[in-house]
Order: sequence, then C-alpha cells, then structure tokens
Amino acid sequence: MLAVHRRAAELAVDIVNAWRDDELDTDWVAALAEREPLPIRHSRRRSESRGSELAVALCALAEDISQVFGAADARQAAAVLNPLLADLDLQVSVSIGDDAPPHLHFDAYASDLGDRLRVNCLLAVASVLADPAEVMRIGECAAPSCTHVYVDHTRSARQRFCSRRCATRSHVSEHRRRQAARG
Ligand SMILES: [Zn+2]
Repeated sequence: MLAVHRRAAELAVDIVNAWRDDELDTDWVAALAEREPLPIRHSRRRSESRGSELAVALCALAEDISQVFGAADARQAAAVLNPLLADLDLQVSVSIGDDAPPHLHFDAYASDLGDRLRVNCLLAVASVLADPAEVMRIGECAAPSCTHVYVDHTRSARQRFCSRRCATRSHVSEHRRRQAARG
C-alpha cells in the first residue's frame, strides 16, 4: 500500500469513529486541522470551507464509509464502496517537489477540503480492500461494548479490536468468564 493511502486510511477510521461516537462537529474538525498534515498540508491556498461546512461534509463521508467497515466480507464491502468511488471527481497526477518525496495526488488542488478528504479516504479504503493476499483488513471492533472500526496494517492481519485497550478489556472479561464457568 502506498504510504499516502496508509495515512488516509487511518484518517478514514478516525472520521468514522468520531461520527459513531457522535463527536464529529466543528470542534473535532478544528482539532483535526491542528494535528493533521495530510492532505491538508497540500493545501496551496487556504481552505475556504468553514469548519461547520467541513464537519457536514465529513459526517456525510463517515455515514457512507461506515457501512464499508461494517461489511461481512470484501465482496460486500466493495458493493458498498464501488458506487461511492464511481461518483468521485478524480484528477490523478504525480506530485514532485511539494515538501515530500514524489507521490500520487488524486484530488484537484483547487477543490474544497471536504471533497479532497473524501477522495483520499475513499481511495485509501479501496486500496486496503484490494489486498493482493485476499485478506480482509478492515472491520468493526470485536469488543462487545465498542462501536469503533479499524484498519489492520499488521503482517499477520489478525486484528479484531480497534485498540490495545479494547483487546485487553475483552481478554480480561473472557478470562473471568472462563474462571466463573469452572466454578
Ligand atoms: Zn474497540
């Protein structure tokens, strides 16, 4: 996977999780702009979209890709994702010398930030789904009380939880359940 896709896939996860937590608002968007270098770093001109407009655009994006993460398998995920990809206004170019090693751009520089994040996040999720080893690398956290999604970048591709915290929590309760069953 291209490095640019990896970061954008993580961003897609952050956006979906914030939306599922009901926290995707103007404050969240402002915090994102503070910490996130890509693709905001590539902004040649200051983005004209206000925080509230961006929050609306990202909520729509989150609602769309949330179902991709919730799909049972890659075929079902692709069935949700492909119509979204077909609707994108793609402009592919090789970018050289913009403070980064040569890399691909999929968005027009001039387009609005919400559109650019949409293009980059959808393409990143598509590139995760198009795994040459036919491994499903996206999913929803297996912890019973967690609604977060994840992208699995590990070599073994056996991730089941969104975070180490959820994995530990689940293993502890599983252990307790087994001990209780033993009496
Ligand atoms: Zn979790």
